[in-house]
Amino acid sequence: MTTGFARLPDAPAFRLTDLRVPLCLLEGDDMPADGNGLARVDLAIADGRITAIEPAGAASAGAVPAASLDGGIALPRLVDCHTHLDKGHIWPRSPNPDGTFPGALNTVGADREANWSAQDVRARMDFSLRTAFAHGTAAMRTHLDSLGEQIGISWPVYAELRAEWIGRIALQASPLFGATEALDPAHMQAVIAAVKAHGDRLLGCVTYMIPELDQALDILFRAAIENGFDLDFHVDETNDPAARSLEYIADAALRHRFEGKILCGHCCSLALQAPEDEARIIAKVREAGIAVVSLPLCNMYLQDRQTGRTPRWRGVTALHELKAAGVPVMIASDNTRDPFYAYGDLDLVEVLREGTRILQLDHSGPDWAKAVARTPAEVLGVDGGVIAAGAPADLILTRARDWTELFSRPQADRTVLVSGKAIDRTLPDYRELDHLMGRAS
Ligand SMILES: [Zn+2]
Repeated sequence: MTTGFARLPDAPAFRLTDLRVPLCLLEGDDMPADGNGLARVDLAIADGRITAIEPAGAASAGAVPAASLDGGIALPRLVDCHTHLDKGHIWPRSPNPDGTFPGALNTVGADREANWSAQDVRARMDFSLRTAFAHGTAAMRTHLDSLGEQIGISWPVYAELRAEWIGRIALQASPLFGATEALDPAHMQAVIAAVKAHGDRLLGCVTYMIPELDQALDILFRAAIENGFDLDFHVDETNDPAARSLEYIADAALRHRFEGKILCGHCCSLALQAPEDEARIIAKVREAGIAVVSLPLCNMYLQDRQTGRTPRWRGVTALHELKAAGVPVMIASDNTRDPFYAYGDLDLVEVLREGTRILQLDHSGPDWAKAVARTPAEVLGVDGGVIAAGAPADLILTRARDWTELFSRPQADRTVLVSGKAIDRTLPDYRELDHLMGRAS
C-alpha cells in the first residue's frame, strides 16, 4: 500500500495548512493569488468534508491536529470527460499495425468482434477504473462502442460497474457508432433502448462528412429531444479541412432549438480552416451552447502520421480561440493502451501536463486547470472539480509549489484524499490482464 508523500493526522477532524490552490478551482470568498494564479490557504476538515477555507496562517492553532503541506499545490479530484473504457488495454493482443487512424479503426473492430465478451470488457474496464481512482479521478464519461451484438454485452456490464463504483468514481457513458449507422432505424432503436435501460440520458455518435449528415443529425437530435437526452459527439478527427461536421452539429442544434447539453470531442480540422471559416464556425458553436473537449495525447499520436514523413502539426483543435469566444473548453484522456493511443494511464495530472505542452496552455492565463476539473464537472453535471467549504475533502496533494514544479515531474508521490482519507495509490499490475491477452507473464 502506498498513500503518497503526505503524513496526515489520523483523526476525524484536522487541518491541512499552507497549501497552494488554483484560484480558478476555489469556491467562495476571493483570496489573493500569486502570479501563478495560486492562493495560499489552510483547510479545516471534519468528518470527511472541508468545513472552512481560510487564508494560510489566518487561524491560530486550535484543538485539532494539523499537517503542513509546506506550500505544495492541492487540486480537487479531477473529472475525465472523454474516455474509452471498453477499448482500454487491448494493445498487447491488438496493436495498431502502423499507428494511423484507419489502422486503429480496423484493429479495434476486429478485436471487438473476436474478444469483447462481458468478462473481457468487465476486467479491462475495472482495471482502468482502479487506475484512474489511484491517480485522483472523481468522475468519468466513457464512450461505449455500440454496434450489433456488442450493445447487449457492454451496456449491462457498464451499468454494473457504475453501481459498484458509486462513491469512488461517478460514471457516465455515451454510445459510440458512426453517423451512417444513425440512418438505420433498427440500430437506433437498439441503442436508445440500451441507453434507457443502462445509460445516463446521453446519446451520441461519430460525425464525418457524408451526404446524409443533416439527416443523421436530425435523427439524433429528435431522439434526444423526445427522450430528454444530452448529446456527445466525436467530431472531425482528421486533418482534412473539408471536414466541417462541427458546423453541421451547431446548425442542427440551432435548427432544433436544442436545450440539452452538447459536448463535441476532437474537432481537429477546425484548426485547419481558413480564418474566416474558423471564426464563423466558432461563433455558431458558441451560439449553440456546445462545449468542446480536446484530446491532445491521442491527437498527437494519430494525426498527421505518414510513414517516412515527420509530422508537421500537433493535431489539436483551436482550443484557445474557442475559449476566447466563450466556449467551455476541456481536455481529457481519450484512449489508453489501445490502437487509437498506445500509451496513457487515465491520469489527468499527466493530461494537464502534456496538454499544457502540446496546446501551449502556459502563457495564456492561469486558469487552464479548470479544463480537467471545474468545466468538465459542469458539463457532465457532476459534483466536484472545485475546492469548496461543505464539499467532500476530495483532494490531490503534491509537493510542487508552482506549475513548473508540478509539470516537470510525474507527481508519482502525490497523495489522494477521498472524503478526508488518503487512499491506496498502488496501480494495478498489467500482468492481471495477461490471461486476456494470450500472453504468459
Ligand atoms: Zn474518443
